[in-house]
Parts: sequence; C-alpha cells; structure tokens
Amino acid sequence: MHADEHDLMTNMTNTTTNAAANMDASSLDTTNMGASGKDSTSMGTSGKDSTSMGIERVLDLFRETQAMLEGHFVLSSGLHSDRYFQCALVLERPDKAAILAEEMARQLRSAGMPRFDIVIGPALGAVTWAYEVARALGARAQFTERKDDSMQLRRGFQVKPSDAVFVVEDVFTTGGSAREVIDVLKTYGVTPRAVGCIVNRSGKNPFEQDGLRLFALANVKAEAWAPDDCPLCKARVPLVKPGSRAKPA
Ligand SMILES: [Zn+2]
Repeated sequence: MHADEHDLMTNMTNTTTNAAANMDASSLDTTNMGASGKDSTSMGTSGKDSTSMGIERVLDLFRETQAMLEGHFVLSSGLHSDRYFQCALVLERPDKAAILAEEMARQLRSAGMPRFDIVIGPALGAVTWAYEVARALGARAQFTERKDDSMQLRRGFQVKPSDAVFVVEDVFTTGGSAREVIDVLKTYGVTPRAVGCIVNRSGKNPFEQDGLRLFALANVKAEAWAPDDCPLCKARVPLVKPGSRAKPA
C-alpha cells in the first residue's frame, strides 16, 4: 500500500475495509482501447516511454486531491459502488489539470493524431477539461450544454465538417453525455476523430460501434451493484451519497 493510500483510508474511516483489496491491478489498465475494443497497440511502445504517466501516477493525482474516494457510494444512477471519482477536485488545480492534459496530448501524438482544431465536451463537467486539452493540443475549446432537455451548441460556437474534432468527457460511466455531444456534432455534419476521457469506468470502449478510438488516462472499471445486491450494504459499511455541495472543512 502506498503511503497516500494509507492516508486516504485513514481519512475515510468508517467507509470500507477492503478498499485496498479492490485496487487490484486486474481492474486497472492504462492501455487505450481502439475501435476493436481489444486494441492495446495504441499505447504500443509509448506505453514503455519514460514520459508516460502510467495509471498509478494518474490515480495518485486523484488521491492527492481526494478526487477518488474509496468506500461505499451511491452513484447518480442509484447503483452502489466501491469507488467514486469527483474530477472537479483534480481540475480545480490548473497545474494538475495541465499534467493530465499534456498526457492526453502525448497519447494522441503517439497514436499518430497530433492535430486537432476543436476539443469539445459536455457542460459542466468537461468544460475545464476540454479547455486544458485544447491548450495542450493548440486547438480551440468548446462545450455543449443542455437547454430545454436537449444538448446544444450555443454561444456562437462554430464547427464545420472539415474541422478535426476531439470529444472529451471527464468520467465515462456509460459515455452517455459524450454520445449526446457526438449527436450534436452530427447535426453540423461533423464526425469526431476520437473520444477521450480522464477515467473510463465503462470497462470497454462505448464508441466501438461508431468506429471511434477511445483515449483514457485510466481505465478503472466500476464495480456497481443494485442496492439489494450490494456486498458493502450486507457488510454494513456506511453509505455515502456524494453531493454537489461541498462539506465544510
Ligand atoms: Zn451498498
């Protein structure tokens, strides 16, 4: 166990006893999934590159900022999970956001995709992330937003079919929000070149059937259960509902 993990667990007393046990390497993977979903070659030699961050460094940034909580959580879907990612707590630190964005740009370059015109993500969660990735790529940063229950491109943002577009999200659970962004782009005649996220919890490439490559800085498959089947409930681990309201220090 890393010292910081220990600190985190100490901070998270009364949450779970098996958080460390759940940090098994089998659920953690830094390889990118190609359109095939099985393609690990996109990291290829770059995976051994000394400049590569690796998943542990990525997760360390999350632990340092308490953006990855290990314990017993109710997700927005209503399912219970042993881990919760609050990317806003990493992204509130521009220095750390820049490190993650540079890593994303490095992975794209390694995959032969060095040039993008636009990085776009769904508001609100992906606004700052898209902005940092755009900075790292020398691209423009845009976001879509919900209005009247539909995702839209507003504020005078322009996108045209000849633009090389990279769609980003902070965390993929199902990739649903990124899917909505892709659908908005479609109405402008735009097909993105690739999709990227900081943490992919889906356990796959949700855009495989679209032929889109997925770039994820960390693949951490969500262990999630219906409340009736939740082993953490059975073990009487106190349930935490991560809210949008910050707790006083
Ligand atoms: Zn539970």
